[in-house]
Amino acid sequence: MTQDHDEACTLKVGKPTFWLSPSLASCPGALESLELTAGDIRAAAERLSRFRPLLATLFPDVRDGGGVVESPLWSVPELAARVLGDRAAHGALMMKADHALPIAGSVKARGGLYEVLVFAERLAVEEGLMSRAVSSLTLAGPAARKLFSEHTITVGSTGNLGLCIGIVAHALGFQCVVHMSSESKGWKRNRLLKHGVAVRHHEGDYLEALQAGREFAAQSLNTHFIDDENSVDMFLGYSVAALRLGEQLRRARVRVDAEHPLFVYIPCGVGGAPGGISFGLKHVYGDAVHCFFAEPVQSPAMLLQLRSGSAHRQSVHDLGLSNITEADGLAAPSASLLAARMVRDLVSGIYTVTDEILLRWVHAVDDAVSERLEPSATAGFAGPGMLINSDAGRRYLKAHGLERSLSQSTHLIWTTGGSLMPDSEFQAYRIRGEELRASDSMPRMQ
Ligand SMILES: *Cc1c(COP(=O)(O)O)cnc(C)c1O
Repeated sequence: MTQDHDEACTLKVGKPTFWLSPSLASCPGALESLELTAGDIRAAAERLSRFRPLLATLFPDVRDGGGVVESPLWSVPELAARVLGDRAAHGALMMKADHALPIAGSVKARGGLYEVLVFAERLAVEEGLMSRAVSSLTLAGPAARKLFSEHTITVGSTGNLGLCIGIVAHALGFQCVVHMSSESKGWKRNRLLKHGVAVRHHEGDYLEALQAGREFAAQSLNTHFIDDENSVDMFLGYSVAALRLGEQLRRARVRVDAEHPLFVYIPCGVGGAPGGISFGLKHVYGDAVHCFFAEPVQSPAMLLQLRSGSAHRQSVHDLGLSNITEADGLAAPSASLLAARMVRDLVSGIYTVTDEILLRWVHAVDDAVSERLEPSATAGFAGPGMLINSDAGRRYLKAHGLERSLSQSTHLIWTTGGSLMPDSEFQAYRIRGEELRASDSMPRMQ
């Protein structure tokens, strides 16, 4: 059987698959033909910097940090043996803790927050309330609040994006309508209702919620639709993470170069978050960084999109998959075409994981480091094992001459959400993970 045939089989039956991108290209060449540039990332970083006083005013959880919305970078030796097997031979393990991002408790506090700020600034400039030179605090003033109260922000979401946009839009004084898809969790909807955000719950999937948001915006006056699938602003908001991570790795004295490769594993839904982050990382580290995305076995939207090589939208339903998963943050039947275009030549590969694997990691991570992750956010942990132990993974290491430098490498797991989960929700996941682990005759964590 050919490799392609093998992959098609395991994907179709919902088994974990490790796919290598045939179009991965070297930097800087791979970055040159893209529609966004390093200058765009810097401009986004500069805007976030300019908005620090506003963010510190609006959100108590970033006040002490002067309005910087950032997550910690941790070395996690407690998990290294479980994630990497033979630690000394396979490198060091780190965790980029976006589950603990302030404001939204998920990676959406990068892209979603950024887009709302861009929109708020544009409105204020159009209305003559602020020029770029004036302090961002103008946007917390009475004139801006009155202006924002006459505008509505709307969004379609499986949960976390809606939660983030609702929290930020509400804090600025916008009206907000969040269209949630069937997989959205009740606690995320309730939390928004408590903030006074209007929530529409749809029986359909993410694409239907998105469409409902789009139509609502088209029919309503003064309504801005946040388009998770096509938003360049969200993508750039995510990309700033790479500059921040670069700084954190430098401070932690972690070397990243050809002899010290950096492997990054990021959960992927529509692809904006992992796409934007990887785009940024390639600008910072070029070929020394190897970006892998993780998707649920029933929702490998980006894998199918990139594997098809098509410019048209692919769907997991076309392969007979259900898009049903505990990982609500990753339950996208189709990938963002913007993200797919941007990462086609940058992403090294994509692997899929079962819900059982995600739940086991929820328990294992809490057990080892007492951190609260939602199932979506644990998809990265299976990556290093799959890279090191699968045929495709080994082929990748060999083809890129990485076998020798593996022992000096860093494996960075991007944990993308969960810190806002209520206790009861978390305990339910944790118990299921614990039961799964207890029933393993041979505890496989990949
Ligand atoms: C949204 C989300 C992702 C993935 O982001 P996309 O832009 O949809 O690819 C990953 N993890 C969590 C927890 C999320 O909420």
